[in-house]
Amino acid sequence: MVGIISNQGFIARIGGDEFAVILNNIIEKEQIYTFSEKMITKVKEEPFIVDDYELFVTVSLGISVFPQHGEDCKTLMKNSDIAVNHAKDMGKSKAEEYNSIMDIYSYKRLSLENDLRKAINENKLELHYQPKVKVSTGEIIGAEALIRWNHPDWGMITPADIIPIAEETGLIHSLSNWVARKVCLVLNSWQNEGLNLIPISINISADRFISADFVPNITRLLEDNKLDGKWLEIEITETSILANQSLVEKTINELNYLNVRVSLDDFGTGYSSLSYLTRYKIHVLKIDKSFIQDVSVNSSNSTVVKSIIQLAHGLGLSVVAEGVETPEQLQFLKQQECDEIQGYIFSKPVPVSDLLKMLRNRVLKPNVEKQSFYENKRNYFRVELYFPMSSQMTIIKFKDKEIQLGRTEILVEDIGLGGLRFLSHLLLSVNHDIIYEFEVEILGEVFNLKGRIVWKEENEEGIFRYGVEFLISESEREVLAKILNNLSLQIRKNPLVPNCRLVQSNKYSYIKNQIKNNNTTS
Ligand code: C2E
Ligand code: CA
Ligand code: CA
Repeated sequence: MVGIISNQGFIARIGGDEFAVILNNIIEKEQIYTFSEKMITKVKEEPFIVDDYELFVTVSLGISVFPQHGEDCKTLMKNSDIAVNHAKDMGKSKAEEYNSIMDIYSYKRLSLENDLRKAINENKLELHYQPKVKVSTGEIIGAEALIRWNHPDWGMITPADIIPIAEETGLIHSLSNWVARKVCLVLNSWQNEGLNLIPISINISADRFISADFVPNITRLLEDNKLDGKWLEIEITETSILANQSLVEKTINELNYLNVRVSLDDFGTGYSSLSYLTRYKIHVLKIDKSFIQDVSVNSSNSTVVKSIIQLAHGLGLSVVAEGVETPEQLQFLKQQECDEIQGYIFSKPVPVSDLLKMLRNRVLKPNVEKQSFYENKRNYFRVELYFPMSSQMTIIKFKDKEIQLGRTEILVEDIGLGGLRFLSHLLLSVNHDIIYEFEVEILGEVFNLKGRIVWKEENEEGIFRYGVEFLISESEREVLAKILNNLSLQIRKNPLVPNCRLVQSNKYSYIKNQIKNNNTTS
């Protein structure tokens, strides 16, 4: 390694398995990447010999450049650290340059990574349950357990954040055990109280499903809690079935022996080979919500859903439609004789106490009221933008700590004196202790406005909409009022007002592209 660096810079061990390299006399950025490649290859190719063992290791590199990514040592180190975490996310043997768009994301991820193990051990995770409803009668005939984590700083964390971290860190095993145990305890307590049981399903990742102690653990849990296997169901995805086919088959057979049913989750999204529907002894197909979403308007998806239901019935499988939100979708699925429905139209995932209340009635009615999330949420007047405004956001205060992070692009949909509304791919929490700063350009004038997130809503797959309440002084508000008045007058004449960084393309595609570009820049 020292050889690669030679007289170009320094290398030092800064702790554990972390090293820092300083390169000087860099004229072109390309040089940094050539250098990184050399380091990665060198480490990968040459084993370390410890006693008689050859150890192969890999290295991930995070790059920050002076002065672009920081003007002092502390900031440069911190940003390299963020970059190295991003590099690890991207897989092994990767070099990533610090990129401010990753900032809030990386910061959050780093903090969650640090806390997850403790949260599992200290029983800080929770399960929410979403009922499955029999289409013909409206009766609740099952529920799915879905993990949640009410993090003290980041608020309610959903599986989209938890599962990838758990999988990467190997915590998925203890997490899955925790989920299975918790569900068995709940069923056991219902059984002891003489309540009617319903089957509860749990989600199991590929790694966990084929690990040697998975079935023994389930067997023990059922025994310890005196439960018949029919009350516990396992959901696996299409993709995990492909991982190791003979092991998957063996596991499914062993579960069947325990009377535990297996469902195929997210059906249609992975590599949908029909051959495994006959090969594996699964009982239920769950049609992914992406097919259900536009079922009543999109005839090609309607055809797909119709065919899946027929196919499944032909094979003697039961069908669950996921993500059912509207009466039209429900109506369509009823006509197609879909067996079960799981979706917001009946209920969101709820804590166990709420599920119990629902179970008292047994029957759920579809909730047909349109939800209005952000109407009348602000007292001050606001300017609705026809084209969203590309703006920058950063966190400036985290609890009582002032912090310095890079900026992330967001799209502002409306702005008023009280706050603004924006779209982002980042999942953030409604937490009054996290203070953000928004840089918006209105008619050529740049404003830095402090605020906090007061509500959020998941909009499209993976895109979030947030409501922000400003934390600004009266004098700042006065200045803002003048320019916003001006803005609203101009918008009436021409929605595409100049000098506001307005985005003309479709806002959702714009954000999705942002994520894509962000993942490919290196
Ligand atoms: P999934 O297994 O497909 O779970 C269904 C997801 O769809 C849940 O999201 C649920 O809240 C959401 N959903 C249900 N009905 C609707 C609807 O009408 N509209 C919309 N837009 N969404 C609906 P959630 O809870 O965020 O879970 C996401 C994924 O995380 C799950 O997808 C599952 O794959 C995974 N997951 C959750 N808990 C666990 C766990 O304990 N272990 C493992 N390995 N994965 C888990
Ligand atoms: Ca599932
Ligand atoms: Ca699913």
